[in-house]
Amino acid sequence: VHFDFTGKRALVTGAGKGIGRAVAKALIDSGAEVIAVTRTQADLDSLKAEVAAEGKPSNCLVCVAVDVGDAGALRPALEGCGDIDLVVNNAGINVLQTFLETTADAFDLTMSVNLRACLVASQVAAESMIRRGVKGTIVNVSSQASLLALPKHTAYCASKAALDMLTKSAALELGPHGIRCNAVNPTVVMTDLGKAAWAEAKKSAPMLDGIPLERFAGVDEVVQPILFLLSEGASMINGTVLPVDGGFTCA
Ligand code: NDP
Repeated sequence: VHFDFTGKRALVTGAGKGIGRAVAKALIDSGAEVIAVTRTQADLDSLKAEVAAEGKPSNCLVCVAVDVGDAGALRPALEGCGDIDLVVNNAGINVLQTFLETTADAFDLTMSVNLRACLVASQVAAESMIRRGVKGTIVNVSSQASLLALPKHTAYCASKAALDMLTKSAALELGPHGIRCNAVNPTVVMTDLGKAAWAEAKKSAPMLDGIPLERFAGVDEVVQPILFLLSEGASMINGTVLPVDGGFTCA
């Protein structure tokens, strides 16, 4: 599907690898200028090289290396990025621990990256949109793990369930400014994060059995719904939590 984001500036967190990197590239291909945020400089360097190798102009990509879990660093880093019209809050981590093993440190870290960073980035972006009278959009990358409990995912599930409600709160209060906020809730995608939890057939088989389409999602199958929610085609969709899970959560 072709989208046109010409003239838009899009912030993408976790743009170094996996889904975020693919979103950043798809947005550039659709005409947007991307502000790519991640914490590993080498990933930003390789993204820049890849985009240049594809013949894209150098001003289509602004790279920001920051730990999004560090709220004190994130806000000034994003405030220094200029205008923001579109946001994809995608950076996420998953510390695999059972409920009884879950440490306070892992819980706080997960919340800081998967949840608080989305609040801070959305606030900075919304302030920019409201100041300029721009009807921008925000998409939070949540998970099927917000909708049902998964083994060894306590902090992760809790962070994503809270992210769904953060999405609705933003939709409620930013809606009057014409700013929409939605979430996508994918099933497993075999990125680094997905492999860490589900690469073993013993673990993935029961999950696959529960997916009516009988397979996990490809990266592009998550990128496309994100771009749709950012686009004008979704102009009346606000506060939605959209499963991208082949039907896993419908049972
Ligand atoms: P990856 O691990 O492949 O990529 C995550 C990206 O986020 C990396 O570039 C990573 O950088 C960056 N990142 C992580 N923590 C921080 C941080 N503190 N500050 C800045 N950047 C950070 O994950 P996915 O692409 O799979 O996941 C993207 C999103 O999709 C996440 O929110 C995840 O929860 C969600 N999701 C993923 C699913 C899956 O099965 N893969 C399923 C459902 C949802 P670095 O490598 O340097 O740490």
